[in-house]
Amino acid sequence: MQHIDHIGIAVKDFKTSIPLFEKLLNTTCYKTELVESENVNTAFFKTGETKVELLESVDPEGVIAKFIEKKGEGIHHIAFDVKDIQAEMKRLQEEGFVLLNETPKNGADNKLVCFLHPKGTNGVLVELCQTKN
Ligand code: ZN
Repeated sequence: MQHIDHIGIAVKDFKTSIPLFEKLLNTTCYKTELVESENVNTAFFKTGETKVELLESVDPEGVIAKFIEKKGEGIHHIAFDVKDIQAEMKRLQEEGFVLLNETPKNGADNKLVCFLHPKGTNGVLVELCQTKN
């Protein structure tokens, strides 16, 4: 795994959270994108080499809505940049980690992504992401 690509933060409402994070990080949100496979709206901010990704549910039954219901708003996942997502998925599986998807999925920001089950990672939801060529 390489550097942390982004930290995903679950929020209830972009209307209040985008201006809040623009103020906090002193930078403007450079992109919002709907990830249809997850029913999630994403908003990105650049913070040096790393990004902050806000996640807003567009489905009351969606994963982000359920996360907020259980735990409240806050850090949802940490995403690591990988060069070869297939190889990294294979390596992690062989190490005994449980992958939440068997094949890479299309994520936001032109990425292929895979999540690891947080039960095997001390409660941290880990995302692998590889930039699509
Ligand atoms: Zn992410």
